[in-house]
Amino acid sequence: MSPRQDLANQPPSVPPALAKKLEKLGIRRRFDLVLHLPLRYEDETHLFPIADAPYGQPVLVEGTVVAHEVSYKPRKQLRVRIEDGGGTLLLRFIHFYPSQLQQYAEGRRIRALGEIRRGFQGDEMVHPKTREVKPGAPLADSLTPVYPTVNGLTQPMLRKLVATELKAQSLDEILPPELAAGLGLTPFADAIRQLHQPPPELSACQLADPQLPAWQRLKFDELLAQQLSMRLAYRARRLGAAPRIVGDNRLATALSGQLPFQLTGAQRRVLEEIRADLAQPHPMHRLLQGDVGSGKTIVAAFAALAAIEAGYQVALMAPTEILAEQHYLKLSAWLQPLGVAVSWLTGSLKKKQKQMALEEIASGQARLAVGTHALFQDDVAFQRLGLAIVDEQHRFGVGQRLALQHKGVEPHQLMMSATPIPRTLAMSFYADLDVSVIDELPPGRTPIVTKLIGSPRRGEVIDFVSRTCAEGRQVYWVCPLIEESETLQLQTAVDCHAQLTLELARLRVGLVHGRMKPGEKAAVMAAFSAGELDVLVATTVIEVGVDVPNACLMVIEHAERMGLAQLHQLRGRVGRGSARSVCVLLFETPLSDLAKARLKVIYENVDGFEIARQDLQIRGPGEFLGARQSGLPMLRFADLEQDAQLLEAARDLAPRLLERYPQAAEAHLERWLAGREHFLKA
Ligand code: ADP
Ligand code: MG
Repeated sequence: MSPRQDLANQPPSVPPALAKKLEKLGIRRRFDLVLHLPLRYEDETHLFPIADAPYGQPVLVEGTVVAHEVSYKPRKQLRVRIEDGGGTLLLRFIHFYPSQLQQYAEGRRIRALGEIRRGFQGDEMVHPKTREVKPGAPLADSLTPVYPTVNGLTQPMLRKLVATELKAQSLDEILPPELAAGLGLTPFADAIRQLHQPPPELSACQLADPQLPAWQRLKFDELLAQQLSMRLAYRARRLGAAPRIVGDNRLATALSGQLPFQLTGAQRRVLEEIRADLAQPHPMHRLLQGDVGSGKTIVAAFAALAAIEAGYQVALMAPTEILAEQHYLKLSAWLQPLGVAVSWLTGSLKKKQKQMALEEIASGQARLAVGTHALFQDDVAFQRLGLAIVDEQHRFGVGQRLALQHKGVEPHQLMMSATPIPRTLAMSFYADLDVSVIDELPPGRTPIVTKLIGSPRRGEVIDFVSRTCAEGRQVYWVCPLIEESETLQLQTAVDCHAQLTLELARLRVGLVHGRMKPGEKAAVMAAFSAGELDVLVATTVIEVGVDVPNACLMVIEHAERMGLAQLHQLRGRVGRGSARSVCVLLFETPLSDLAKARLKVIYENVDGFEIARQDLQIRGPGEFLGARQSGLPMLRFADLEQDAQLLEAARDLAPRLLERYPQAAEAHLERWLAGREHFLKA
């Protein structure tokens, strides 16, 4: 490590209590203070005469205290009146300490920073920032930064700590000058100094503008660090060894012959991409994306067959037991007739069954093992694992994926997701994966009609359910989501089922929820699949992967409580057969504006990507990243939507930097992410 990096990485030299507070702000090393940038700025460079000060913006005024009192009407408050010769102003404090009364003794000279507004008794400032001054005390010559902080860490303390580091640390340009200049970037040191200690010519308004070149520079640097670390993670993985898998198509041909349908063009294309990866001697990490119902499972089946033909075993993992079971049934139905043994492993198996499954897996007799997290446990040893397929990958934690990677030689990994990832997000947080997209639905689907209905019209919905079932169709009824408590959620599901059983007395109404024993769940699902139930009341356990083509109506209660991605997934459970399908979103009235905007997105769009894009705008990226975000350096300054251009520039620069200026790349990573890159290996 160079002396410069050494200095940057030292912990801040402050007492332990203060160090703890800094840590809460993410400041662990001295250089982090350089990167701790102001939230906003206060203008104390200009003094307004009280009479001329504008309303509606922060202003600095100065005056002599002419009166002060604690009054109790309408509520307890400290009132201080100041005067500057031309006008008077009331300073009001609702929260104050008795000792503050002294600070505002008559005759003292006070500077107050705040917004003036018209009160009942003339102009006033509520809770201004004040300090006592001597007449003629000099004004600040630049804007005052206000930093993000925590309790007990004052702005002057932070300013002092930052100022010390600005002197001590090297702010030298790390990027090769010709590259930085080519991109029109403000030099790093200038950007940092401008933002921490703004020059007098910059106004608060300019400093708040995300387009200010100084901000642009820091956002770019942050995005570049992210791109570099993603690329390095990608590279490191490609240095690892994995079996070259080339199947002979024997089983694949047999399966094709059996299927009642042909693969779509998109399915064939992604399958070729996967097969090409499997034939490489380093581990595949490919994300297979496709909207709900786009047919990812059959693609997974063909990928599995390639590995099985080549003599390897395959593991397929799903995040819930219901989904794992559906996969198991479907894949067994496809593969057993070809003579491929499929095993089933979940946490809920009886000891004996589990022992048997483990033996089948260890001996290599099981060619495909389908299950839940249980497939990752330490007691599971594959004889020759070549490919691991993870469905709905975003629901698994980083730790679980790590566990998979460390089982012997690294297997190839195929991750599947129905949560469409907007382009900017894919370009940043998923940049270390290869991505295949199924962008076409199988033919013969009728589009789903979505209806928004307020709770007062619930009766009409019940009638509609009756009529649908009278035609021999089936219905999903999704109970409201209760996030705060699992017990309440369970109670809601049970109540919901009881009520519908009454309201739909002539129909067979079943219930499935997350707290049922796996065997019970499976029995209910099987009954529904077999048409022995008309209505299935469910919690969101049916969100992913359930596939019953005869179900053509879905009612979602309290739709306003659910996430857009979740609603889209749920809605995808119907419209799988050729019957006209309807999704009713029942909402509780009145709706908030935000809820209205969100339901409108679902109502107006059927394309999962478009929904995801609008969701990203409404909510920010957190939800999409799921477990991933816990391990990834989040962006502090850059904004994926707003700064898409910077992101593209950073993405283009990253490989050139690694190729031609590896030392600069390393120094840049060190400056921005020191010590945090290892998370990316997940
Ligand atoms: P998802 O991508 O949501 O996991 P599935 O794999 O469950 O979707 O597929 C949805 C349904 O479409 C299944 O019933 C599946 O058998 C069917 N399917 C898949 N591919 C095709 C195809 N090419 N033509 C017709 N039906 C298909
Ligand atoms: Mg699926």
